[in-house]
Amino acid sequence: MKIKNIFSSLIFRSFIILVLFISLLISGLSIYFIHNQKKSLNDSVFKRNFAEIERLEEAIAQKMKEFESTLSLLSKTSSIIALDKTESSSFLKSFDVSSLFISGETVSLYDRNKTLICDNSMVGESLKQNHAFTDFDKVSPIRSYKTSWFWEDDSPKKYFAFEVGSRATASGTIVAAFSFRRIWQNYSNYAVGEKGFLVVTDKDGKILMHPNLQLALNGKHKISEIGISLPKAIQDKQTEPLNISNSQGDFLVTYAYNDDYQFAVFSLQPISEVESILSSLQSVVILIFATILPVTILIILLLFFHFAIPLYQLISHINHIGEGNFEAEPFPISNRKDEIGLLANAFNNMLSLIQKQMKQLNEHQKYLEEQVQKRTQELENAKNQLEIISKTDELTGLPNRRDLREKIQQEAHRATRMNRNFCFIFIDIDKFKNINDTYGHQCGDEVLKTVASTIRQLLRKYDFVARWGGEEFLAVLPETEIQGAKIVAERFRQSIESLHIKYTDIEIPVTVTLGVSQFDGELGIDKSIQLADEALYDGKMNGRNQVVVAITQNK
Ligand code: GH3
Ligand code: MG
Ligand code: MG
Repeated sequence: MKIKNIFSSLIFRSFIILVLFISLLISGLSIYFIHNQKKSLNDSVFKRNFAEIERLEEAIAQKMKEFESTLSLLSKTSSIIALDKTESSSFLKSFDVSSLFISGETVSLYDRNKTLICDNSMVGESLKQNHAFTDFDKVSPIRSYKTSWFWEDDSPKKYFAFEVGSRATASGTIVAAFSFRRIWQNYSNYAVGEKGFLVVTDKDGKILMHPNLQLALNGKHKISEIGISLPKAIQDKQTEPLNISNSQGDFLVTYAYNDDYQFAVFSLQPISEVESILSSLQSVVILIFATILPVTILIILLLFFHFAIPLYQLISHINHIGEGNFEAEPFPISNRKDEIGLLANAFNNMLSLIQKQMKQLNEHQKYLEEQVQKRTQELENAKNQLEIISKTDELTGLPNRRDLREKIQQEAHRATRMNRNFCFIFIDIDKFKNINDTYGHQCGDEVLKTVASTIRQLLRKYDFVARWGGEEFLAVLPETEIQGAKIVAERFRQSIESLHIKYTDIEIPVTVTLGVSQFDGELGIDKSIQLADEALYDGKMNGRNQVVVAITQNK
């Protein structure tokens, strides 16, 4: 049996479904896994980055707070409260105080008329007019007043202002510019991944700090230039990562805003860096997929060659036997110990039982056929025997009268057809009754047998003779004219006369009288025989032991 269409094989279809199922399962799991990983990775990166910007934000705020505290203390110092040009000026320039400020951080003292009394400038320069402090009315003695960020001497700055002295003696104002350069020193302590960076802006998005310092030096660059539009509610804490795209690529953006000092901190991390972790995960999944699939296919092929093909071979073998080939060899893989082996074994056991029973059946059939043949032969023999018996005279062994009539019939046809002659010789033992009466019936039988065998021995091979009845015989001589027949009859007579038949040592004289006739087609068989009989009768009348030829025939 051959599989005409491979797709009709149940095993093959199962294998295909299995491969598809495994492929789908792995693909589905991979997509689900990667999607989940991506989400949690984004979340964890976001949290980490958020922690980092909060750290930077706190550090900046801390510096500004310290600055504010320093100024607050100064505003309460007697040398400042004195509002004396000489005293206050020398105090501000004293080593203890000047070291609290860095280069570019001006500290100025004004009287109640907003007139500059002194500053910490070592060279006696007054405050630059471009960014002069003007908000004197907004300054309170309790809390510091802070201006927006402004740019001066290549640095973002912010004025902090305190009222000097008590309200009663409310006198002047001390103003100091916080320089963002303070932050530069430790800006590099903060990092976002390996390729990410941090940006600090004011509340309007102007860049205060950027890895490329050029962008932070003049206040003309805004965060929007790097593709980030300032979130509307920047004051609210960010809850979700923000993705942006700019000319440098895609970034994950995290931000935090400090309301006290009005600055925002942004972190930008390239998405490619975030996802590089993910892509290594993807590689692992692909590796698993690339391993599992070939292994599955390999297992399937193994199963196919080790299980399906032997199964088809077994089916083919069973079909072959099913077509009547019971002499088939056993299936050759029964030495296997698995299911196929067990199946083949069971099949072979069944086959051997069938073969055994077929053998017994054949032997029995052969025996029966022999018996039938034997019986048929016996019957045939019996029939032949019966036929011989029915045509033979039991005592003499010569054909009987019935058999002779059939042969005469055939000879009559032949002679007529061939236009040939044939003759009858009727033979009757003389005074046979006397022999019976004198020597007994058994002796008579012996005489009959001897006379019969004598006549037969004298005949040619194509002549025939029969016991016609009692002690009478009829001989038929084909292809013989009447003269020839007469000679044959005379030979019979002489031979019988010269017989010395002995019975219990007594010699018994035997003679015969013979009547000869030729077959006459016009008279027919019976009449022709009757002519011979009549001639014989004449012989009896004339003294017996003689041959008489029927009168109608020419001598
Ligand atoms: P004929 O010379 O006139 O022929 O005289 P015959 O005695 O031979 O003739 P008949 O017809 O008077 O007698 C024939 C006898 O042959 C009568 C019968 O008992 C005897 N016979 C006939 N068949 C058999 C036989 O099979 N065996 C014996 N032993 N005798 C037989
Ligand atoms: Mg007689
Ligand atoms: Mg007689």
